Amino acid sequence: MPENFKNFIAGEWVAPTTGAYFENRNPADWNEVIGCFPRSGPDDVTRAVAAAQRGFARWSQAPAPIRGDVLHRVGDLLVQRKDEIARAMTREMGKVLAETRGDVQEGIDTAYYAHTEGRRLFGRTVPSELRNKWAMSYRRPIGVAGLITPFNFPLAIPTWKMFPALLCGNAVIFKPAEDVPLTAHLLVEVLLEAGLPPDVVQLVHGEGSVVGRAIVEHPDISVISFTGSTETGSSIGATCGRMHKRLSLEMGGKNAMIVMDDADLDLALEGVLWGAFGTTGQRCTATSRLIVHANVHDRFVQLLCDRADKLRLGPGLEETTEVGPLINEDARKKVEYYVGVGEEEGARRLIGGARPSDKRLERGWFYRPTVLAGVRPGMRVEQEEIFGPVLAVIKVDSLTDAIRVNNDVRYGLSSSLYTRDVNAAFRAMTELDNGITYVNAPTIGAEAHLPFGGVKQTGNGHREGGWEVYDFYSETKVVYVDFSGRLQRAQIDTEA
Ligand code: NAD
Repeated sequence: MPENFKNFIAGEWVAPTTGAYFENRNPADWNEVIGCFPRSGPDDVTRAVAAAQRGFARWSQAPAPIRGDVLHRVGDLLVQRKDEIARAMTREMGKVLAETRGDVQEGIDTAYYAHTEGRRLFGRTVPSELRNKWAMSYRRPIGVAGLITPFNFPLAIPTWKMFPALLCGNAVIFKPAEDVPLTAHLLVEVLLEAGLPPDVVQLVHGEGSVVGRAIVEHPDISVISFTGSTETGSSIGATCGRMHKRLSLEMGGKNAMIVMDDADLDLALEGVLWGAFGTTGQRCTATSRLIVHANVHDRFVQLLCDRADKLRLGPGLEETTEVGPLINEDARKKVEYYVGVGEEEGARRLIGGARPSDKRLERGWFYRPTVLAGVRPGMRVEQEEIFGPVLAVIKVDSLTDAIRVNNDVRYGLSSSLYTRDVNAAFRAMTELDNGITYVNAPTIGAEAHLPFGGVKQTGNGHREGGWEVYDFYSETKVVYVDFSGRLQRAQIDTEA
C-alpha cells in the first residue's frame, strides 16, 4: 500500500478535512505509485491561514539576522540531504539526476543568500530638506504569503519564494504542484528540522482549482507569489487586483536562441541541445525557437539533428539518461497536438515527432526530441508555449530580422545570441525584449543571486532571485524624525 502523506498545518502533520487523496506516480513508469497526497479543501486553507497568522505574529518580531540563521541551517540540511531529495524529485518529476541535484543546489544557494540578507535588508537614510530632521526608510514584514508553484523546479522555485519571504519576516502557506508533492514534503521537513517555528510554514496539498484558488481568494493572505502558466496567472491576477493583494507572477515563455553566421557552431550546438532538450523542454526558459542565419542554416540544422536524434531517452534515475519523460499524459498530448499543428502549418519535421519505440519506455510519458524546420514567424508553433522537447527552426538573413522574430511573441523571458561580433552582442543585449539575455550561452542557466523574470506576458514586473525579490516580500516604511523642537513645513520653509 502506498503511504498516505499529510498536510502540515498548525504545527502538525494532519490528514485533509476532505479525507480525500490523490496518487503521485512516477512519470517514467506510471505503474509506480510514490505515495498518496491530500486532496485538500478550502477548510484546510482556512485552518492554515489562522495558524500562519499566529506564526507571523511571532516570527515578524524575530530579528532578521536570527531569521537568517535558521535559513543557514536550512542550507546546511539541504547540503546533507541533497542526493536523497534529488532522487525523490527525479522519481516524481522525471528529469535526470544531474538536473535534480542542480535543482536542490539552487535551493542551497538561495538559502545561503537569504542568510546573508538577514544582516543587510537595507533601508536608507537620506538628507531631509529641513534642518534638524532625519529622513529614513526601513523594511517591514507584510503578513501571510501564499506561494503557488509549478512542477518543473519542485524545490528551487518554492525556495525562491519561501526563503526571501521568511527572511523578511512573513509566514507562508505553500501549495505545490500536484505532480511534485513529495519534494514539497521533504522541503517542509527540512525547514522544521532547521528550527523554523512550526506555525510559520503551512503546507497544503491539492488541486490548483480548489486549494490554489482558496489561497488566492482568502482575505487574510495579503501576498501571493505564483509561478506557472500564463492562463492561470491571468486569472489569479484578476482576483488579486480586485482584492488589492500584492502579487508576483512568473509565467510562460517562448524563448529563442539566435545563431549568427560568425558563431562558434560547435559551441552553439552544445547550447541548443542543452537549452531545447534539457528537462525535456519543460523549463520556462527552455529554447523552443532556434533562429539561424541563412548562411549557416543548413549546416547547423544538420549537425543539430544528427546529435539530437541520438540523445538517450530513459528514466532520469539512470545516470546515462539524457532526456527523461514528460511530466504527465496531458503534457504529452499537448506536445503531440502541437507537432501536428506545426506540420499542418507547413513546418517540416526533421527528427522525432513520435514516442520512442523502445519497449522499456512504454509505461512512461516519453517523447522523442523533435525538430521542426521551415517554421515561419507567426505560425502557432512559433508563437505558443509547447513545454516539451520540440524545437521550431526559423531561418533569417540578418541580425535585424533575428531580433524582430525574437521580439514578436507575447512572452519575454529569456533569449540568447551566439556570435563572435562584440558589436552584434551589445546590440542584441540592448534590443532583445526579454528579462534575461545570454551571449554565447543557451537560454537556460539562471543563477540564484541575480534577479530572474520576464517582460510582457511572462511576468508582471517583479523579479525573483537576487536582491530584488526582497522588495517584493517587504513593505517599505519611511520615518521622519524632527528634533528641531518647532514646526517645520516641508516645501515651504525652504531658506538656505
Ligand atoms: P500551472 O499553471 O498548471 O500550475 C502552476 C500552479 O498553479 C500549480 O500549483 C497549480 O496547482 C496551481 N493552479 C492551477 N490552477 C489554479 C487556480 N485557478 N488558482 C490558483 N492556483 C492554480 O503550471 P504548470 O503546468 O505547473 O507549470 C508550467 C508552466 O509554468 C509553464 O507555462 C512555464 O513556462 C511556467 N513556468 C514559469 C516560470 C517562470 O519563472 N517564468 C518558471 C517555471 C515554470
